[in-house]
Parts: sequence; C-alpha cells; structure tokens
Amino acid sequence: HNEEAAAKAAASVADTGAPTIFDKIIAKEIPSDIIYEDENVLAFRDINPQAPVHVLVIPKLRDGLTTLGKAEPRHVEVLGQLLHASKIVAEKEGILDGFRVVINNGVEACQSVYHLHLHVLGGRQMKWPPG
Ligand code: C5P
Repeated sequence: HNEEAAAKAAASVADTGAPTIFDKIIAKEIPSDIIYEDENVLAFRDINPQAPVHVLVIPKLRDGLTTLGKAEPRHVEVLGQLLHASKIVAEKEGILDGFRVVINNGVEACQSVYHLHLHVLGGRQMKWPPG
C-alpha cells in the first residue's frame, strides 16, 4: 500500500559502494551540527529528526561498511566504538535513561545512505515495535 510504497521510494538508493553525502559531512564541506567527534567516529544531528533527539553516529572511515551486513572481523573495533559513541551522545543529550539505537540495513529496512550509521533517538516516549 501507500506507506510501503513511500518507504520503498525513500530507500530506493541501492548499495553501489559509491561515495555518499556523509563523506562531505566528514570532510566538513557540508556543515553539520556535531555532537561528538573523535579520531574514528563522528556524531551529528539528523537533518530530518524523528524525535527531539536524533543523532547519527558514523565511522569516519567507511572501509566497506556501506551496511552493517558488510561487517567483517576487521570492523569489530570500530563497531564497538560506534556503540560507545552512541552512549556518549545519549549522555551529552541528557537521554541516558531512555534512548534507542537503530541501524537500518538495506532497502527493506529503508536504508537511504550507504555509509553505516547508527541512529540515536530519544527525548520522547518511543513506541514498540518500530514501523
Ligand atoms: O537509515 P537511513 O539510511 O534511512 O538514514 C539516513 C539518515 O540520514 C536519514 O535519517 C536522513 O534524514 C539523514 N541525512 C542527514 N543529512 C543528509 C542526508 C541524510 O542527516 N545530508
């Protein structure tokens, strides 16, 4: 139906391995509202927030991680860093008592940017199950 069609359209970009808009955000060619940054990880506010707090946490080096589904043993360290950075973001945003971390993987999960990113969401009552 309509909702499904809209979701599919929004996520119609395939995993081609092409550079994404996040490269420009990492390079600071496009401004973003940065919440946390270290050597390996960047966290910035989502431009289309789905909750009062909606921050994206991404690896600075994609290294093949277009999706979580491409994860290999060499990525284990950065995957841990991304989760830890998500906690730091939640703490900084004052939502440590209630927040959600989401990874959309692939078209069926409505992934639209093929550079791994964790959504950190909070600041309101979240629903379960997510849509
Ligand atoms: O999980 P998904 O791939 O759909 O998430 C991509 C997210 O990146 C969206 O929430 C979108 O609003 C966000 N985005 C952004 N800045 C851009 C492009 C996309 O914050 N320039």
